[in-house]
Amino acid sequence: MRKSKKSKHKSNEIVLKGIPAAPGITIGRAYPLYDEEIRIPRRRIREGLVQDEIIRFKKALARTRSEILAIHKKIADEMGMEKARIFGAHLMVLEDEVLMSEVIAKLKKDRLAVEYVFWQVLEKYIRVLSKSDDEYLRERVSDITDVGRRILKNLLGAKHRSLDELKEKAVVVAYDLSPSDTAVMHRRNVIAFATDIGGRTSHTAIMAKSLEIPAVVGLETVTSSVRNNSAIIVDGNRGLTIINPSRHTIKKYQLEKKRFEKFEKHLLKLKNLPAKTLDGKEIDLAANIELPTDVPSVLAHGAKGIGLYRTEYMYMNRKDLPSEDEQFKAYKGAALSISPHSIVVRTLDLGGDKFLSQFEVPYEMNPFLGWRAIRFCLARPDIFKTQLRAILRASHYGKLKIMYPMISGIEELKQANAILKEVKEELEKKSIPFDKAIEVGAMIEVPSAALTSDVLAKEVKFFSIGTNDLIQYALAVDRVNEKIAYLYEPAHPAVLRLIKTIVDNAHRENIWVGMCGEMAGDITLTMILLGLGLDELSTSPIIVPEVKRIIRAIKYEDARKVAEKALSLSTGGEVEALAKAKLKEAIPHIAV
Ligand code: PEP
Ligand code: MG
Repeated sequence: MRKSKKSKHKSNEIVLKGIPAAPGITIGRAYPLYDEEIRIPRRRIREGLVQDEIIRFKKALARTRSEILAIHKKIADEMGMEKARIFGAHLMVLEDEVLMSEVIAKLKKDRLAVEYVFWQVLEKYIRVLSKSDDEYLRERVSDITDVGRRILKNLLGAKHRSLDELKEKAVVVAYDLSPSDTAVMHRRNVIAFATDIGGRTSHTAIMAKSLEIPAVVGLETVTSSVRNNSAIIVDGNRGLTIINPSRHTIKKYQLEKKRFEKFEKHLLKLKNLPAKTLDGKEIDLAANIELPTDVPSVLAHGAKGIGLYRTEYMYMNRKDLPSEDEQFKAYKGAALSISPHSIVVRTLDLGGDKFLSQFEVPYEMNPFLGWRAIRFCLARPDIFKTQLRAILRASHYGKLKIMYPMISGIEELKQANAILKEVKEELEKKSIPFDKAIEVGAMIEVPSAALTSDVLAKEVKFFSIGTNDLIQYALAVDRVNEKIAYLYEPAHPAVLRLIKTIVDNAHRENIWVGMCGEMAGDITLTMILLGLGLDELSTSPIIVPEVKRIIRAIKYEDARKVAEKALSLSTGGEVEALAKAKLKEAIPHIAV
């Protein structure tokens, strides 16, 4: 169970406990992304002042327009026209005559403050559009919401802040960050982040690791506790955020930061050594990437190849879809730079907590159980085939593997393979070269797939276990909800049994099986994972050296015994206690 959330120390130091999302310690200044929640007053307006309200509204529109134009220009200059297009769509919302005249008409009729009237009209639009059968209209919801908030902030005089305005190094504090926010963070001065919501395996948390900045999520009240420029410490190792730290706390953390950095440097010495146990069992230790720009970090941390390339990030922060050629270049570049190792390219996994401003994913009540990943790709073979063609073409230049996300049963897998076969035939007809022996695998992240993995194993060359989803579906615990994070237990016996089933079924069919969920980087459980027989572990690049350190300090024989014992236990707590005790036996000074 989580301990007390918030405690006040001497002076005005506030210590908040959240969920560690990415390791490391940052001491800096806070940059709250939104100053405060918008409060919309319901004020009556005297008849004689209606015209003033209309003028105020028009001024807010003009100001919003110039803000959006400025951002459009900046993004276009820095990142190209493609990425700037989203702001073109925002301008179209501003120019929507029907919406704006409805606000003015209602303002005259109701005689209430314009911000209140405006938000009522906007909410009505959002409600209607969300339910529309027309895909194009549903897709406009996020544009309208974004622009609406901006107009509202201008009406209320509150400053809308964005990462673009960040001129100095700072700790970003936000209620939540979308994967598209985090995708551009590497270009900004973000040295850490802290959010109110989110779980350990939310995509915001995963992205923090690839940015190599400390992060804590699920703090619940960090946005309301912090002010602009407050001194702040983000302790991504323990999941703590300290606001207005005392001199004593700052000193303590300065020391700790130095110690941690030294430890990390020390681990990098393992870079060129194999992930081999004391009794000679070697396992493939690979890394996960979100963007091709993460490849240098994979190499720097000594991972052997890429066990998961989350390609959906290429589809974010833009209004159009990446073309076949653009994808081909990205996959080819990644394949060449990781050569001679291989790279598992996961086909598009949209949905869940990875929403795009694009048109593909309409509003859903349960997005993690909805139109996601392979379900979406099978419904949109045009998009799927474009991606498969690009991967196949790139496979001629390096060692690529294809992996389908969210497979829930054999029909889906066969359908995906049939589409792949069609694409291969098309390429062959045109004499376009590709790796004819390219390995195709399935992610096992849905319990139905785990339990039928004996059947699925006949159709693929490998499995990779996506524990982030597998755990949430098996234990019925939303992976992004911090309120139930205590129930999100990778060590739960149900999870271990599913992993064992998958591994045994894969090996019976002589295919290899890896794990690419965050559990693969949970060093407390490394021994058990090894003992369960996994052939590959793939984790965020920065975690790779720590996992390697554990593997090199244990015996495979012991790991097998620990795994067997763990499978006989009845709670996650018992499994974790066993794992920690055995790890401490192997590495007495380890902090777990
Ligand atoms: C997983 O579910 O474990 C996984 C690796 O995929 P993602 O986190 O992208 O859903
Ligand atoms: Mg997944």
